Amino acid sequence: MQPYTGRFAPSPTGALHAGSLVAALASWLDARAHRGRWLVRIEDVDLARCVGGAQALILRQLAQCALLSDAPVLLQSQRAPLYRQALEQLLQRGCAYYCRCSRRDIALALLRLGHSRQRHAGPVYPGTCRNAGLHSDARPLACRLSVGAAPSDPTACGSGDLGRAAGAQHAPALVWHDRWLGVQSQDVQRAIGDFVLQRADGCYSYQLAVVVDDAAQGVSHVVRGADLADNTARQILLQRALGLATPQYLHSPLVLGANGEKLSKQNGACALDCSDPLPVLRQAAQVLGLAPSGDTLAEWLAAATAQWALRFTIPAA
Ligand code: GLU
Repeated sequence: MQPYTGRFAPSPTGALHAGSLVAALASWLDARAHRGRWLVRIEDVDLARCVGGAQALILRQLAQCALLSDAPVLLQSQRAPLYRQALEQLLQRGCAYYCRCSRRDIALALLRLGHSRQRHAGPVYPGTCRNAGLHSDARPLACRLSVGAAPSDPTACGSGDLGRAAGAQHAPALVWHDRWLGVQSQDVQRAIGDFVLQRADGCYSYQLAVVVDDAAQGVSHVVRGADLADNTARQILLQRALGLATPQYLHSPLVLGANGEKLSKQNGACALDCSDPLPVLRQAAQVLGLAPSGDTLAEWLAAATAQWALRFTIPAA
């Protein structure tokens, strides 16, 4: 069995708030309960979204809570060659293709096909460039995963026509088990379509970066907030297309803002003051259904780990 490696992978778009601390604590507790390694990775792949000083702030908040990475903190902004390599592999295997569609092109194509846009859902890419054989030599183009060509059997990739000739079978919905949410499924082809791996401006997508880095760091268990659950099917497809192992997933409950939506800067999340860590950690634990006692930080974290192990029937090593 692969040794346990978990991770917390914040984007440095602001300080930790009550919601992000829940995800950090859950992933740390799961790693400690399994006596595994816990890593921190800064997801600054999209530098335009990053906020100056946020990375240092997050790392300080984690340190104040005694949530310390077992290896040097990894920065996605320094890993472009790895993402490029993965992309090349997918292109060569016929699992990915270049796309020149603008948002407007996609909207118009969908209109022509008579697809109405679902509320809260992004447009489903209609596959316009899938068989266009575009090359990105002359000008920068976006790159997409051909979802139908990235099935459970990775050898099906590279069939020349991206595995999706007219009349080809629709890939079945992807089913996966979440340790908190139970059985989940998503028909990626129907709900999302061929998704972006690299934008035309050169920025690698979250999906590509996260899959490459989880594999490169040997992550066996992903524990993160439930707002990210609907990325999981896409990430599993990508893992299969790249021939990578799929980690186990657990999506922890969200903290809701006053408007009933996920807590975010838009609905009033404020930076957590972790200089007195126990009160903020107690609150985070409550969201996870835990109520450990302990007067010192070390005692409290040990009690929380024991409660987590009990809840997920993780045997003591
Ligand atoms: N960087 C992502 C975020 O901060 C989390 C990625 C992940 O855990 O997969 O929302």
